[in-house]
Amino acid sequence: MKIPINLKAGEVDKEEKREVIIGIDLGTTNSLVAYADGDEVIVIRDESGSNALVPSILHFGADGVVVGDTARKKLISAPERTIYSVKRLMGKSYADLESLKSSVGYNVIDQDTEALVKIEIDGKYYTPIELSAEILKELKKRVEKHLKTEVSKAVITVPAYFNDAQRQATRDAGKLAGLEVLRIVNEPTAASLAYGIGLSKEEEKTIVVYDLGGGTFDISILQIQNGIFEVLATHGDTYLGGDDFDKVIIDYWLSQIELSSEDLNNDKSLGQEFRTKAEEAKKTLSNSENYTSAIGAYALQLDRKTFAHISEALINKTLHACKLAMKDAGLSKKDINQVVLVGGSTRMPLVKSAVSEYFDQKADDSLDPDEVVAIGAAIQADILAGNRKDLLLIDITPLSMGIETVGGLMDVIISRNSKVPTRAGRQYTTSVDGQKNLKIAVFQGERDLVQHNRKLGEFILKDIPPMPAGIPKIEIKFILDADGILTVKASELRSNVETQMEIRSAYGISEEDMARMLIDSLQNAESDMKTKALLESINEANNILLATDRFLEQNKSALKEDQVSQIIELKEELLASTKGDSKDKIEAAMQAMNTYTEPLAHEALDRNIGKALKDSKV
Ligand code: AMP
Repeated sequence: MKIPINLKAGEVDKEEKREVIIGIDLGTTNSLVAYADGDEVIVIRDESGSNALVPSILHFGADGVVVGDTARKKLISAPERTIYSVKRLMGKSYADLESLKSSVGYNVIDQDTEALVKIEIDGKYYTPIELSAEILKELKKRVEKHLKTEVSKAVITVPAYFNDAQRQATRDAGKLAGLEVLRIVNEPTAASLAYGIGLSKEEEKTIVVYDLGGGTFDISILQIQNGIFEVLATHGDTYLGGDDFDKVIIDYWLSQIELSSEDLNNDKSLGQEFRTKAEEAKKTLSNSENYTSAIGAYALQLDRKTFAHISEALINKTLHACKLAMKDAGLSKKDINQVVLVGGSTRMPLVKSAVSEYFDQKADDSLDPDEVVAIGAAIQADILAGNRKDLLLIDITPLSMGIETVGGLMDVIISRNSKVPTRAGRQYTTSVDGQKNLKIAVFQGERDLVQHNRKLGEFILKDIPPMPAGIPKIEIKFILDADGILTVKASELRSNVETQMEIRSAYGISEEDMARMLIDSLQNAESDMKTKALLESINEANNILLATDRFLEQNKSALKEDQVSQIIELKEELLASTKGDSKDKIEAAMQAMNTYTEPLAHEALDRNIGKALKDSKV
């Protein structure tokens, strides 16, 4: 079903108008935006007309946030206010990111190992969603300037291995940037669309997408059948890319002159000069046999043969991932119909030849490897806009479906535009000790608070055996069949208690109602996101307050009086902050509590371990 909506007027359009839906490649290092104009895809470039890449970097300066090349220039002079690699933080908790925290110049907040990460700048706390939204706003601005009209709908690409939380975070970022995200598309799927693979219903193919970017490497194997793209396997390395090739060049040069990597660490601008020259050498060798240059008195030289030698280990790492992916997919090289190259680093001739040799066929590099994903996203957008009538559109659910969670938030389980039939599930737990019953309320709609969405029904999971809060594993499964009938199943996995209910999701909701719900979600996106962020902080703060109470109770005898009174004071401050409406105040209070209690928690842990050891000796 397609509902034409006039976003400005907030009404359903009587006549269907041709509209532009943009395709966005939201990358770790660079982002791009494109749109389809008839059979042609236009990639938006900068004023010079040559560069389509917008560095995915943000700088927080005196005049607000800037994105792109201007921000990149601040990486060295203002590292703590310049944010890069936000994509690596999307949908991640601090526990997922232990290693990243030490390698970046900005402040990643460690609040609660389970909670999603935040970044602190000048006492303000930003989620990766808010930061990604800034990049998306910049892309939106560029395309609007080019088209001289507003755009409001987009397709955004994500790596095939992104999980539900990361996809949802990307969707939310789009919403916050004022874009209705019609679909989240896998990057390798977009790449194959750009190469025209999968554009006809009859086509059946198995392809490999080899994507080596600036900082990440992904290999995906896709099977395309009846217009459906199935990811058979993915592998890769989230910390392997063009930057590593630059590093081996620097190491090679350092081995020849009287400088060490320590010297470069100590002299940041010298280090940057070396990085720039190394990248220049690498790019030069993609077209010529030799590179010579100098930094001050240091002569720099590199030829193709030496480069091939020093980067062999990196290339082999990528081929090893190819091998694992092929094994996971249960395929052999003869099953692969096409190999497609994506990412700026596949411009290196040695990458092209290694991949071609590995798969026994010439890897396809006819499109610009930086632009393929954005081009594919634009083609997918054009299909969704209904401009390619010959193409089949797989049946999709018009509105998201999910359940109510703490604080009245909507937790989407099946997203809008998912193919049907489909099934999806998620695990939850209880928030109260000994909780026996759990109410599951099912909603449909795009707003972040359930009160604004449409209730489909509710039921109660009964007779959960008494357990402490957080221990039960409650799995909620949504099964949506081809007729739009939703079955919701809830089970407590530890005790096998189970219950289910059937809901007819499309029943009783008119097209106008559906359109109104979509319009509401767009018009209220910003305030919804703010409310959602505030409610999430309050939930998090309440969890910390509960944990603190438990900690005080369990460690009463070991804590000093002044420590107890300090904790109580911090607790009161935190509690007070949850009564207000400032997310930043709550975040700051949580941070204060955390900073104070963390060493005490470590001491308590040591004490308990010591005690356990002593007990075991008796
Ligand atoms: P991406 O993230 O896909 O934009 O990839 C950017 C990476 O591609 C960077 O590491 C660049 O140094 C690298 N790159 C761009 N052009 C070339 C080239 N001509 N030869 C080798 N590497 C390149």
